[in-house]
Order: sequence, then structure tokens, then C-alpha cells
Amino acid sequence: MQFDLNNILRDNIKSLSPYSSARDEYKGKEGVFLDANENPFGAPTSFFEGNELNLNRYPDPMQLSLKDKLGKIKGLPTENIFLGNGSDEAIDILFRAFCEPGKDKVIICPPTYGMYEVSANINDVGIVKVHLTKEDFQLDIENILLAINETTKLIFICCPNNPTGNGVKWDSIKKILENFKGLVVIDEAYINFARYMSLIPELLNYPNLVILQTLSKAWGLAGIRIGAAFASQQIIDVFNKIKPPYNINAVSQKIALDALDNLDQVNNWIKEIVFERNRLSLELAKLNIITKVYPSEANFILVKTINANSIYNYLANNKIIIRNRSNVSLCEGCLRITIGTKEENEMLLKTLQNYKA
Ligand SMILES: *Cc1c(COP(=O)(O)O)cnc(C)c1O
Repeated sequence: MQFDLNNILRDNIKSLSPYSSARDEYKGKEGVFLDANENPFGAPTSFFEGNELNLNRYPDPMQLSLKDKLGKIKGLPTENIFLGNGSDEAIDILFRAFCEPGKDKVIICPPTYGMYEVSANINDVGIVKVHLTKEDFQLDIENILLAINETTKLIFICCPNNPTGNGVKWDSIKKILENFKGLVVIDEAYINFARYMSLIPELLNYPNLVILQTLSKAWGLAGIRIGAAFASQQIIDVFNKIKPPYNINAVSQKIALDALDNLDQVNNWIKEIVFERNRLSLELAKLNIITKVYPSEANFILVKTINANSIYNYLANNKIIIRNRSNVSLCEGCLRITIGTKEENEMLLKTLQNYKA
């Protein structure tokens, strides 16, 4: 099926002349900068002293050093990378670029990440829900293809999926990519914990593929708010046209640059979390208040319980906070547990063992 980005781009975005910032025009680092109305003396803080952080200056609007370093890890040139203030910014931009408010629609596959629906609602974009299959939370491919029509612009697929934890079969994703003229957005927030690979190499084969990743989970940087979208240069150019000029602040850029040097540390954490996930899954399955432990490719486990609200409250009273998903359709009776440190997981298990139904 022929894909043409111009067929799905909103007219106001097509004709938009983006804001041109002072730092877009002159790219050199040396010079006398009298172009951006900044304070020439400095910033009144010594918090980052010795870090070459000129907080009185606007940050690089295109975050080129950071994209370069991330690109080397991901095997992608900077032109195929967009960085956002969390992946949530990338999700919002997808709606604003491709979905006409009050007219266009997107398909989501619940139970899934809540932000797709919230972002759609904020942008007044219709949502068509095609639920995952009941038994194993896979894509209902037949009904997804039936749900597509002229107004469908985006299909969101979370893989590994939150809150169910499972991966979605590549065959199904491929079928959607090949039969849909809009964008297929694969949210890989949890890919580092999965046994299968990222779909990044498929960007070369599918011009309608957008992949979302984030530094918020495996990378341990939820506090600095950096998410990424990987796609064709044509799509990334649209993202860049719409984003606020300085969407990633200087402090976050600097910290992310430093953090990306520590891939070994992160890989060790991932190994430990995956080990703990597998151990915790086995231990949780032994408890009679838990009737099912869903297989997980992520850093959390979904479990079905005999009384979700009561167990949730009991844990909270013991200062252990998990996520109650029991009022989400297809997740009735379910709780979502993030994998903590070995000690934290032991506390959780001990506390659950003492629960009196
Ligand atoms: C946590 C999460 C994200 C990350 O969002 P950020 O804004 O990058 O912190 C994205 N997608 C899913 C499915 C998530 O669970």
C-alpha cells in the first residue's frame, strides 16, 4: 500500500512557517552573543559550577550532541531522532500534526497506556478502541483492519504493553503496517526488559512506522523528562516544525549526555531487574491470593487476585504502593507491581504472605 505523508498531514501544519529561534540562525559556540536577550553575566546559582553549563544561555534547540550520542547507541542518524519532554510530548505532537480536531480518529488497543486516550481527548480527536484478545492480550488484527477508515490517522501499539506486560506478535504489527495508510506508532518504553529486539531496523522498510522510546524507565532518568521518537526524516522534520523551540532544557540535556556514557551500568540494572522479575513471578504464583501471574517482558508484573481492592489497600497501609488496575476492562481483579530492588521485592512478598483474606 502506497504511503504518502502529505495525505495525512494537517493543512495548517503543511503551510506552517515554524518559529525561528536566535540559536537556529547562528550555530557557532564562540562569539559575542547579543542576539537572544539573555543575561550576559551568568546565572545566580553555583549548583552546576565546573560543569560548563551556561544556564544564562538558551539550550541547543535541536539537541544535536545528545541525539548524536543516542543515535550511536540506537544505530540511527540524528535526522531520524526527535527528542521530547518525555515521550508524552511526542504523543501529543503526533495528534497535533496528523489529526484534525473533531474529525479524525485514532485506534488504540486497550488495556493499554492511558496517555494515548488523554492526549486524544485534549486534542478533540476521536478514539476507536479495539480491545486486545482476552486470553493472551494480543492484537485483534481482524477487528483492527475492519476499524480502519478514511478518518483513521494513527494506530497506537504499546509493545511490551503497559499494564499487561506482554509483547505483541511481529506478524500482527507487520500486517497493520502493510495495510494502513496512516502512521503505526509502536511504543517501546519497556523494550530494554524484553527478550525480543526493538523494531528500529524496520524503519528502513516501513515509511509509516514511528517508534517511541524513553529515558524514564530502564535508563533511570524519569526525573529529567526525555523521550524519543524514531522515524523517517520526513516525519521527524514535521515533529521539529511543531515542537516548542527549546523543549529540552539545558540541565536535562547535560545530564542525559553524561548518563548515556554509562551503558554498562544500565545493562547491569536491566539484568538484575529481569532476574528479579522472573524470581518474583515464580514466588507470587505460589500465593493463594493470586490466581494468575501474567508473563512479562517489562519491569512490572500484572497479577490477578481474589480481591484486588482489599490487597491494594492492605499493601498501602504497610507503605507498599502498587498500581490498582482492577477497574480497567479485561484487567478485572488485577494489580500491577513494579519490580523493585531485591530487598523491596522481599518486603512485598513477606507482606503479601501475611495478608489475611
Ligand atoms: C512510562 C511510559 C512512557 C514514558 O513516558 P515519558 O513521558 O517518557 O516518561 C511511555 N509509554 C508507556 C507505555 C509508558 O508506560
